[in-house]
Amino acid sequence: MGQLNAPGAAPLRPAAAGGFDVLVVGAGFAGSVLAERLASQLGLRVLVCDKRPHIGGNAHDRYDDAGLLVHPYGPHIFHTNSAEVFDYLSQFTEWRPYQHRVLASVDGQLLPMPINLDTVNRLYGMTLTALEMEGFLASMAEKLESVKTSEDMVVSKVGRDLYNKFFRNYTRKQWGLDPSELDASVTARVPTRCNRDDRYFTDTYQAMPRAGYTRMFERMLAHPNIKLMLNTDYREIEHLIPWRHMIYTGPIDAYFNYRHGRLPYRSLRFEHVTLPQEHFQPVGTVNFPNDYAYTRTTEFKHLTGQQHTQTSVVYEFPCDEGDPYYPVPRPQNTELYRLYQAEAERLPNVSFVGRLATYKYYNMDQVVAQALTTFKKLKAELSPEPVLVAGVAAADAAPLAAARSANDAAAALPVNGAPVRALREAPGAAFQGSSAP
Ligand SMILES: Cc1cc2nc3c(=O)[nH]c(=O)nc-3n(C[C@H](O)[C@H](O)[C@H](O)COP(=O)(O)OP(=O)(O)OC[C@H]3O[C@@H](n4cnc5c(N)ncnc54)[C@H](O)[C@@H]3O)c2cc1C
Repeated sequence: MGQLNAPGAAPLRPAAAGGFDVLVVGAGFAGSVLAERLASQLGLRVLVCDKRPHIGGNAHDRYDDAGLLVHPYGPHIFHTNSAEVFDYLSQFTEWRPYQHRVLASVDGQLLPMPINLDTVNRLYGMTLTALEMEGFLASMAEKLESVKTSEDMVVSKVGRDLYNKFFRNYTRKQWGLDPSELDASVTARVPTRCNRDDRYFTDTYQAMPRAGYTRMFERMLAHPNIKLMLNTDYREIEHLIPWRHMIYTGPIDAYFNYRHGRLPYRSLRFEHVTLPQEHFQPVGTVNFPNDYAYTRTTEFKHLTGQQHTQTSVVYEFPCDEGDPYYPVPRPQNTELYRLYQAEAERLPNVSFVGRLATYKYYNMDQVVAQALTTFKKLKAELSPEPVLVAGVAAADAAPLAAARSANDAAAALPVNGAPVRALREAPGAAFQGSSAP
């Protein structure tokens, strides 16, 4: 059995207290937000499991051997336009203002990315003004009847030369596919600016959790109604520990045993290096669209603001094998996902939430927003029912009968998804044969 109770989480209740209202699979943003809401707002008993040995999902951070705060799953920069998301997370962390900057190594120069006025002027040795740049881009842009692919998206905005220098090879490395084979949405995320704004993001809220992401997750999961099992695949426990509803945040195709085939995911190999020097590169991230097997290098101290005599850098090597990181946005993959989605919708006791469970290229804030919306939908459904007691007054008989028949209907459900009240009424039985503590 896996490690129980991360720092800050309460010890597991004795088995006699009954099963859990909700089993949350995955302790990333999707799972942790929902666990926190269900426990703190509805008083539900929530079991969170994750097959990894830590909380935070891909946003997990930790201190390396040199004492530098690093992101093992690649750099995570928080940005959002949603006040609701920012206010929600602010309950669990203080923030450090941070504006991410990216330079691209092109033709022997480090140039601002996304492409802006300085990028174009320095690349072509020009002195265009903002107004002139609009005209310049318009003269470079290719006129297309429809914009379907990532290639279309870029060449229709900035033309083929900038596309070839900044996008084509980067996208090929990142996705293992030519931009002409990918949805327009992939490159639509990167804007082009005619001003000198060199921030990577322009969202209203841009900040990093002051004490790191993991600390923030610890605070989210510290509610006494939340228990945590790490190093635990949900399949090890789903039939041993009773629960009423499941929040599933893993890959949706894995949930259904790949019965319609595997959804393609792109993975990354990370190479972390700690260097005996204070600084490595001028900004948080440097992109290498055209050279090397890696796509980019990120120096964490820019993101975290940590003062240290050494520094830590991560190199990202895209690959097909490994942890599923990026759903690959192509029309045929969306079609395959729809098959799984249709099956998921037929399961009333399981909610599929998050990047992998909905096969969407979501940022952290979008996943938080999706989880908050899911909570609002689940609220009525999962609110605790009044406990039935023997010898109830006659006046209460009618609502009781209604509640019973609702419970009877729910009782037809499989064991995982059994009505929690039934489990509470038969403690002990609930955990028979269970390896749960
Ligand atoms: C390299 C990289 C960089 C990124 N950078 C940014 C960024 O700068 N800004 C930004 O906003 N977003 C960024 N993202 C996106 C961000 O990581 C996601 O939006 C977010 O982590 C998704 O949260 P989630 O809970 O949906 O999924 P995850 O974080 O993937 O969490 C899912 C969890 O479920 C667990 N799990 C899966 N299957 C099982 C199972 N069978 N049993 C038990 N547990 C299971 C996994 O171990 C995992 O911990 C980046 C993503 C990557 C890959």
